[in-house]
Amino acid sequence: SRPKERLGVALVGLGYYSTDLLAPALQLTKNCYLAGIVTGTPAKAETWKKKYNIPDKNIYSYDTFDQIANNPDIDVVYVVLPPSMHREYVVRAAKAGKHVWCEKPMAPTVKDCEAMIKACADNKQSLAIGYRCQHDPNTQAFMKLAKEKTLGKVKLITCAAGYNEGRVGHWKLNKALGGGVMGDMGVYAIQGARLAAGEEPMLVTAQHINNRPELFKEVDETTLYQFHFPSGAIANCTSSFGINTNFLKVNYEKGFLHMDPFSAYKGNKGTYTNGEINFPLDNQQAKQMDEDATSIMQKQPMLAPGEEGMRDIRIVESIYEAARTGKAVKI
Ligand code: NDP
Repeated sequence: SRPKERLGVALVGLGYYSTDLLAPALQLTKNCYLAGIVTGTPAKAETWKKKYNIPDKNIYSYDTFDQIANNPDIDVVYVVLPPSMHREYVVRAAKAGKHVWCEKPMAPTVKDCEAMIKACADNKQSLAIGYRCQHDPNTQAFMKLAKEKTLGKVKLITCAAGYNEGRVGHWKLNKALGGGVMGDMGVYAIQGARLAAGEEPMLVTAQHINNRPELFKEVDETTLYQFHFPSGAIANCTSSFGINTNFLKVNYEKGFLHMDPFSAYKGNKGTYTNGEINFPLDNQQAKQMDEDATSIMQKQPMLAPGEEGMRDIRIVESIYEAARTGKAVKI
């Protein structure tokens, strides 16, 4: 058959992120479009069907999901479920012969990530993690400073990502569903530190702070953690469900960088020794999905593949171990 000009995407799980960000972004994309949905809520199927003109044959429930294998309209399955469900749906999508995009955090454990990577490889499907910031030129600017050592070696990174989460009964507060601040806001500050350092941390220490034990009974509310990198660079990070914050600071041998915000949907910007970082960006999620669709069509590696998602989950596991034991943990 003739190669497609645009890939059909099916969103799995029609919650906040699918509804408010991904579906609107899929109206702006050029290389892919919203072709189908997978939902456990029939009322949402009705609303989405009308709003986005989705034919009945492209609407699935979690029970009928595997039949997506027989649907040529769907090229990519985008898993936007609570983290504990990512593994199951990524594996089922790969087995159905579909390329997979999976939201962050990739999964609760490294073991899950390995199974997801293997399922996609075994079925010859691409796997990308929804690390939208890696597609943002403002993120790419500080990645470049690390790579090209424009301001010399990185000495100290300070990074924080958090907001005030207080929704009683939400999966983010539920351990079994993959909640906890480290998978949620944590991966942003971990990404900030890793991408600004341009290398992988080798040692971590960590501490939990719980200011609302009545709400955070099962998972961490705020976690502080410190990385030591092979070059000698140090990072001091905060991830929080209780503090509104989003910044990245880097001290280099010969200068500084300060991004605020550094991992928002839009408006990421900052200053550094040589000037400003403030690249225009129409829609971050549209750019992410268009670039990932192009990589699939051109049979190129994904910008943020499963292995990249797994690196962060390995670090998250080490952070929890470090906080639990009070000891420095080798990554
Ligand atoms: P929501 O809780 O708003 O939506 C999750 C959806 O998953 C639900 O609406 C439901 O959809 C489906 N679902 C199926 N089973 C369950 C269950 N047991 N409990 C709860 N929901 C269930 O979550 P978000 O949209 O905020 O997050 C979804 C994913 O997207 C997460 O991995 C999150 O980290 C990620 N995310 C990423 C962002 C980014 O910037 N990259 C931003 C926000 C979220 P249905 O009714 O259709 O079955």
